[in-house]
Amino acid sequence: MASEENFMRAPAPSPKRTIYTEAMEIFHRAADLIGLDKRVRLELEEPDYEHIFYVTTKLKDRLVPLAPEEAKAFSDLSVTQVRNPDGLERLADGKIILNGRALLGSDVNIRRGHLRLPDGGVYQLVPGESQRFKAYRVQHNQARGPYKGGIRYHREVSLDLFKALAAEMTWKTAISEVPFGGGKGGIQIDPRQYGREELENITLRFMYKLKSMIGPNIDIPAPDVGTNGEIMALMLREYSDGERERHNLRGIVTGKDVRIGGSEGRVKATGQGVAYCIEDYYADRGESVKGKTFVLQGFGNVGSHGAAILANMGARLLAVNDADGSIYNGDGIDVHALMAYVSDPKNLKRSVAGFPGAQKIEKKDLWEIQADMLIPAALGGEITADVAERLKVKLVAEGANGPTTPEADRVLQKRGIDLIPDIIANAGGVTVSYYEWIQNKRMERWSESEVDQRLEKAMKRNYRIIRDISRNQPRKTDMHDSRGYCISKTVDPRCAAMILALKRIEAHYMLEGFSQ
Ligand code: NAD
Repeated sequence: MASEENFMRAPAPSPKRTIYTEAMEIFHRAADLIGLDKRVRLELEEPDYEHIFYVTTKLKDRLVPLAPEEAKAFSDLSVTQVRNPDGLERLADGKIILNGRALLGSDVNIRRGHLRLPDGGVYQLVPGESQRFKAYRVQHNQARGPYKGGIRYHREVSLDLFKALAAEMTWKTAISEVPFGGGKGGIQIDPRQYGREELENITLRFMYKLKSMIGPNIDIPAPDVGTNGEIMALMLREYSDGERERHNLRGIVTGKDVRIGGSEGRVKATGQGVAYCIEDYYADRGESVKGKTFVLQGFGNVGSHGAAILANMGARLLAVNDADGSIYNGDGIDVHALMAYVSDPKNLKRSVAGFPGAQKIEKKDLWEIQADMLIPAALGGEITADVAERLKVKLVAEGANGPTTPEADRVLQKRGIDLIPDIIANAGGVTVSYYEWIQNKRMERWSESEVDQRLEKAMKRNYRIIRDISRNQPRKTDMHDSRGYCISKTVDPRCAAMILALKRIEAHYMLEGFSQ
């Protein structure tokens, strides 16, 4: 029989540290500071729903290149003439997808499952098999509106990661004052290992399964790492095809091409929001972006557009790192030329590596480049305590979600390096996603300048409130009102951003009450 003593002695299990618990540290700190209502806290501590499901597809036949050593065994294998070169789809890892009747003909020379192409290489013919992928959608909170958040296609995703990213969306939508909650999801897949049609089929099947969990007024996906407007178009089609009111369903996803209901300015919006925050950071100090230097990690949607806008404002990009390499030019990298280089179809990896206007460097050296700012715009957890110790910048503006670990945060503070936290810095994307959603609902189309103006005002207004909370400087100006948010003491900017989010979410629960 269990005695009272046994109960008293049982040590409290220490919670396992995960990406989610790490991401929630700042939530708990801010919740303690503002004395967040206990029930609201419980509502926000864990997601509303965590969906895990599976997507299957039949892959196409593909040709896998042999290493030169292995190819020697086939030295006398004659060349197979390619009848339909358009049917060969070369992937970033050198494999070739066989689309349609690419190799059909009388002169296909296959020996022990191998053939030689006119490029001289020997390839193993691997018949397409069926494959299963793990998929996720986490719906974190909807107190303020429908769940909202991106779809990520990446090899390293997990429920734990999506929980953290979905919670981030709950904070971000509250900070941006858009009437949404937070969600996130995607597929565990390296999209660069699959052909266009394969990805299309995987996406359609993904949406086929996701359909029962989402809706234009329930949960609204958008692009994130590894997805884009083309993927959103497929998701829209699968969701709305055959529906009687299909045109009323355009708001099921945002980040669409403008020709099918996307918003002007959405593609660049996240990078633009980062740039607006940086502009306001310097304006507050009586300085300008012009002449400032920056180092960038990630040259995808957020990184490339953010860099282009900062370059247009007169800043100079010194170095970039992406998944495949790092480059540096002390005189400044031509951002527009780099964008053209990365999007050239011949650049199969879509990487900055090999860009002729810069020299190659090692990733570890990137962190030690002297510059005014660092903009992480790739994956989470990249700025560790060790990296933070080595940085030679004065400002970190977080384009990526969760790029800085909690330990690194403390190092940045100790070293006096300023921070524009992710949940405000990269909120431009979800803000313009909201504009897209309104335009879809109203069947309207706003001009790019209208979107830009609204976005600039929204970003700067909310960033100023966060700065005021951080400095404990309650005030009302023409642009913003921070009086209801300051907490009678100064806090670091990340905590200030979380305080703004929590106060806005708490207001919903307090005024509307809890549905039973
Ligand atoms: P993307 O897929 O367009 O680009 C990702 C970039 O990161 C690529 O350049 C890739 O090479 C690089 N990268 C990937 N792995 C890397 C690694 N291990 N080391 C260095 N670089 C690596 O993605 P994106 O949409 O630009 O998103 C980038 C970040 O911004 C993510 O954290 C995402 O969650 C966040 N974000 C995106 C949006 C949006 O609207 N797209 C909005 C808010 C936040």
